[in-house]
Amino acid sequence: MRNLVLLGGGYGNMRILLRLLPNNVPENVHITLVDRVPYHCLKTEYYALAAGTISDHHIRVPFPEHPRLTYVFGEVVKIDLESKNVILNDESIIHYDDLVIGLGCEDKYHNVPGAEEFTYSIQSIDKSRATYQKLNNLPPDSVVGVVGAGLSGVELASELVESRPDLHIKLFDRGQRILSMFPERLSSYVENWFHSHGVEIVRQSNITKVEENRLYNHDEPIHCDAIVWTAGIQPNKVVRELNVEKDGQGRVVLTKQHNIPGYENVYVVGDCASLPHAPSAQLAEAQAEQIVQVLEKRWKGEEPPSEFPPIKLKGILGSLGKKHGFGLVADRPITGRVPRLLKSGVLWMYKYHNGY
Ligand SMILES: Cc1cc2nc3c(=O)[nH]c(=O)nc-3n(C[C@H](O)[C@H](O)[C@H](O)COP(=O)(O)OP(=O)(O)OC[C@H]3O[C@@H](n4cnc5c(N)ncnc54)[C@H](O)[C@@H]3O)c2cc1C
Repeated sequence: MRNLVLLGGGYGNMRILLRLLPNNVPENVHITLVDRVPYHCLKTEYYALAAGTISDHHIRVPFPEHPRLTYVFGEVVKIDLESKNVILNDESIIHYDDLVIGLGCEDKYHNVPGAEEFTYSIQSIDKSRATYQKLNNLPPDSVVGVVGAGLSGVELASELVESRPDLHIKLFDRGQRILSMFPERLSSYVENWFHSHGVEIVRQSNITKVEENRLYNHDEPIHCDAIVWTAGIQPNKVVRELNVEKDGQGRVVLTKQHNIPGYENVYVVGDCASLPHAPSAQLAEAQAEQIVQVLEKRWKGEEPPSEFPPIKLKGILGSLGKKHGFGLVADRPITGRVPRLLKSGVLWMYKYHNGY
């Protein structure tokens, strides 16, 4: 049997499973999926888990079952491309014939001293749970610093102010306006929403150091009872340690067929892959569709497509608490209740299509 090993049961590899199961796995192929957690986690909802507005169970989807699919639940620590082995933290070894690396990303701390040690995170399910505990156990009137006002920082701060209106939330951002990657009209809408909900936006900030219950903005100390870091991401450590070509963000440079150059049987999907868009679940899924086509061709001994049409994304939707939202759909900015409803609909559809 040929062993296809999928590292990480995130958005990218779930899409690969969705396309291969139940009837498109060749008779001579076995699939092994490795993840540290025994269910698929909806990372796009971690901000709500951390804020305490949804339950843990609400953002888990059971992995599919199939006679030729095996699960290994453990921590991947190393990939040996030469011997075609994946090594887990209990020293067990999984041999692969084909490998898809979909281990997602982690926080990037930009060498800010104390940031990793003294801030909370929403980049993994276990860290989001720890953040939930901290934020929801804070005494009344505590101060929460959210560092980084990109999509996840904005979603966290808005959800938190609805969950805990007694907290004083400070949202720190480097830019002159928050959500600088969106049109100005959207930034203004979101900033107004924050003003009307009592969230303080600290523009043009530069966090230079973090200590327990204190961050330094341009070296000025600011007391915070909890600090959440949403100011940058980088590929998973296992991928960072791979000795292959990376782009400026540390993502693996791939061929047009999404495999690592020189390793025709090793693909990288999602946040760890160098693609012409910012990382997103939507992108991971679109790329996974193409990887499935390549796998199917190569399994048949045929040539895969020499290139694919560029991946087109449908747009971006962000939430401002449970009732309002914002987004860019077909390059047009939308604000208010409609984008929030659309976002809930997208989540519902996702769970439905994944058999939940
Ligand atoms: C708060 C927030 C909101 C977001 N909102 C959106 C949105 O609205 N739309 C959108 O498109 N994207 C959104 N994103 C981005 C999106 O979540 C990611 O781009 C997407 O999850 C990437 O998919 P992936 O398949 O690369 O990895 P992931 O979905 O992150 O999956 C990685 C998997 O690998 C496992 N894993 C990691 N390391 C190991 C290890 N060492 N050993 C074993 N298993 C391991 C993890 O448990 C996980 O199951 C959001 C992200 C965040 C944090």
